[in-house]
Amino acid sequence: MTLECKHVWGRISEYLDQQLDPKLLADIEKHLENCEVCSAILDSTRNILVLTADSRTFELPVGYSERLHARLEKAIRESANPKNDSA
Ligand SMILES: [Zn+2]
Repeated sequence: MTLECKHVWGRISEYLDQQLDPKLLADIEKHLENCEVCSAILDSTRNILVLTADSRTFELPVGYSERLHARLEKAIRESANPKNDSA
């Protein structure tokens, strides 16, 4: 099967939680090796997860992780629609 970027993005949280079945995991890792966009998104997602995990320990202001999450979703949406109108 051909894995597209949007398929990878839809699986990133499962990927990071290691909840993918082995075949899909292999397909995604193969895609990540060849796709700069997806590896970049994976890296940022992982960083944000680390940050938000830490935030639970440090009691950041209410809404902090929500804003991070919103920013991540926005970045993913914009990558998914490169020709979006930025107006
Ligand atoms: Zn990709």
